[in-house]
Amino acid sequence: MQTPHIVIVGGGQAGATAAAELRRREFAGQITLVGEEPHLPYERPPLSKDALLEPDNVQLNLHPASFYSEQNISLKLGIRAEAIDAQQGCITLSNGETLRYDSLLLATGAQARRLPELDALGSVSHVLRTLDDAHRIRAQLKPGSHVLVVGAGVIGLELASSLVALGATVELIDPASRIMSRNAPEVLSQYLQSVHEARGVRFHLGAHVHNARLNDQQRVVLTLDNGEQLQGELLIYGVGVSIDTRLADSARLHTEQGAIVIDEHGRSSQPNIYAAGDTTVQIGLDGRWQRQETWENANRQASMAVCHMLNQEPAKSCPAWFWTDQCDLNIQFAGDMAAAHWVLRGTLDMPPFVLIGLDPEGAICGAITVNQGRDMRPLKELIEHRAVLPLEVWNNTAQNLRHLAKQITQTTRSQATNVALTDEAAAPAHP
Ligand code: NAP
Repeated sequence: MQTPHIVIVGGGQAGATAAAELRRREFAGQITLVGEEPHLPYERPPLSKDALLEPDNVQLNLHPASFYSEQNISLKLGIRAEAIDAQQGCITLSNGETLRYDSLLLATGAQARRLPELDALGSVSHVLRTLDDAHRIRAQLKPGSHVLVVGAGVIGLELASSLVALGATVELIDPASRIMSRNAPEVLSQYLQSVHEARGVRFHLGAHVHNARLNDQQRVVLTLDNGEQLQGELLIYGVGVSIDTRLADSARLHTEQGAIVIDEHGRSSQPNIYAAGDTTVQIGLDGRWQRQETWENANRQASMAVCHMLNQEPAKSCPAWFWTDQCDLNIQFAGDMAAAHWVLRGTLDMPPFVLIGLDPEGAICGAITVNQGRDMRPLKELIEHRAVLPLEVWNNTAQNLRHLAKQITQTTRSQATNVALTDEAAAPAHP
């Protein structure tokens, strides 16, 4: 009998996590990891932070090279997976090789969304998604550079924070009326904007780039739709991501919203083909398509797919979680950012503070910690239990969140035990 072979396409967070998790869960068959980038699998979160600030000291690799040989994981780097034959269970690669698989995991991630009118500016125009992008930006950046950043999402803001720390001046342009509008409630957007402004960043919100060109001195000139002209030595844009579904299409996988549809086990619409990370979309409990482009989701979905491949029990799922580091602030987000109402714990202008998101019934459904990461674990527990507490408890910083979470967990457990006991007492006696 042939040894089972699991092929993983994508050498990012989800792909490398899946490979390691397969061995951790004692899969003894063959593992091949195919990655288009030439580098060992690396962490992306530092690319907009330490990879720019301290490029010589940052350690990005998810595992050292020796890990893959010790774990007998075959790496095929700098190679693209071209097409899948789902009927035959094989995949062809850009080097002409064909790999047979028993299970296949697509962890192909997402690419920075491109704006052709900005790419047309040539080498002074950048996106930031890969290690090579970070190297290119770092190489062009000089102290005192004036940088135009398009997109005030997480990439744009983390970049602005790092660029200022490196001695550059920054102007940020975004069509939305507030920063981080996709991921943060208004109260946090406003606070964060004031923090960046205090460090000299200038915002142009509610503004579109109407025209982009280079002037005679090879400086970038952006004309905004309100007529304003901005100039800088460098342009970096972060306007979301796009997903390349050509590989998925070759296997006729079901896609929605440009992403691979997976079920709660990480399975695609074809047998033995799984997907994990930024490339996926899932139906949420509310019946709507949900995409999560986060580090934690890549790890969780990779582990979920591996567990299903190996017929093992996956870890219990937790509320969605991500973080961003900007201007000496560590900001962590859990649960639903579209909460109906936000309660402040602490003082907005004086971190540490916490924002508690409540749903229309008054139950906690989301939370944000600002320089208060140690509260994240109890907050996730409270979100999981949809805890309902009086406002004066939520906004009282003397109330220890860990104790509250413990009480709520214990109460729920004892209620569950009571229900179980009552059910048992009410059940008819076995014959
Ligand atoms: P993002 O957070 O979705 O933000 C994109 C921003 O660009 C939005 O504010 C968007 O405004 C704006 N935008 C869209 N089209 C534009 C246009 N034509 N011109 C100017 N602005 C435009 O995406 P991102 O910052 O590019 O980050 C890319 C991915 O990396 C995301 O998946 C993100 O989650 C991930 N990432 C995560 C972290 C983290 O977790 N710390 C850090 C970095 C990156 P509208 O909303 O109005 O469209």
